Amino acid sequence: MNEAMLTTYNGQCPYCGSDLELSIDTSSGSQEYIEDCEVCCAPITVVAEVDLKGELVGVELRRDSD
Ligand SMILES: [Zn+2]
Repeated sequence: MNEAMLTTYNGQCPYCGSDLELSIDTSSGSQEYIEDCEVCCAPITVVAEVDLKGELVGVELRRDSD
Protein backbone atom coordinates (compact mmCIF):
# COMPACT_ATOMS: atom_id res chain seq x y z
CA MET A 1 0.00 0.00 0.00
CA ASN A 2 1.33 3.38 -0.99
CA GLU A 3 1.51 6.24 1.41
CA ALA A 4 -0.38 9.32 0.38
CA MET A 5 1.84 11.91 -1.22
CA LEU A 6 0.02 15.17 -1.41
CA THR A 7 1.19 17.76 -3.87
CA THR A 8 -0.21 21.24 -3.78
CA TYR A 9 -1.28 22.75 -7.07
CA ASN A 10 -2.39 26.32 -7.56
CA GLY A 11 -4.87 26.93 -10.33
CA GLN A 12 -7.94 28.93 -11.19
CA CYS A 13 -11.58 28.03 -11.18
CA PRO A 14 -12.76 27.68 -14.81
CA TYR A 15 -16.14 29.15 -13.84
CA CYS A 16 -15.42 32.20 -11.68
CA GLY A 17 -11.65 32.60 -12.08
CA SER A 18 -10.89 32.45 -8.36
CA ASP A 19 -7.52 31.17 -7.26
CA LEU A 20 -7.72 27.62 -6.01
CA GLU A 21 -5.31 25.52 -4.04
CA LEU A 22 -5.71 21.81 -4.70
CA SER A 23 -4.12 18.97 -2.79
CA ILE A 24 -3.52 16.10 -5.17
CA ASP A 25 -2.61 12.63 -3.94
CA THR A 26 0.06 11.66 -6.47
CA SER A 27 0.55 8.20 -4.95
CA SER A 28 -2.58 7.03 -6.76
CA GLY A 29 -1.27 7.96 -10.20
CA SER A 30 -3.10 9.90 -12.88
CA GLN A 31 -6.63 10.65 -11.91
CA GLU A 32 -9.74 12.60 -12.72
CA TYR A 33 -12.17 13.80 -10.10
CA ILE A 34 -14.68 16.49 -9.33
CA GLU A 35 -13.92 19.21 -6.83
CA ASP A 36 -16.38 21.92 -5.91
CA CYS A 37 -15.11 25.48 -6.11
CA GLU A 38 -14.94 27.05 -2.65
CA VAL A 39 -16.12 30.37 -4.03
CA CYS A 40 -18.88 29.64 -6.57
CA CYS A 41 -19.57 25.98 -5.61
CA ALA A 42 -19.44 24.85 -9.24
CA PRO A 43 -18.20 21.31 -9.90
CA ILE A 44 -14.72 21.52 -11.41
CA THR A 45 -13.35 18.50 -13.25
CA VAL A 46 -9.75 18.10 -12.13
CA VAL A 47 -7.55 16.04 -14.45
CA ALA A 48 -4.19 15.31 -12.84
CA GLU A 49 -1.41 13.61 -14.74
CA VAL A 50 1.16 11.81 -12.63
CA ASP A 51 4.25 10.03 -13.92
CA LEU A 52 5.55 6.64 -12.78
CA LYS A 53 7.74 8.26 -10.13
CA GLY A 54 4.70 9.83 -8.55
CA GLU A 55 5.51 13.32 -9.73
CA LEU A 56 2.79 15.64 -10.88
CA VAL A 57 3.25 16.31 -14.61
CA GLY A 58 0.26 18.50 -15.30
CA VAL A 59 -3.15 19.52 -14.08
CA GLU A 60 -6.13 20.59 -16.12
CA LEU A 61 -9.21 22.24 -14.64
CA ARG A 62 -12.29 21.86 -16.80
CA ARG A 63 -15.87 22.88 -16.77
CA ASP A 64 -18.20 19.96 -16.53
CA SER A 65 -20.17 21.02 -19.59
CA ASP A 66 -17.23 21.45 -22.00
ZN1 LIG B 1 -15.48 29.16 -8.87
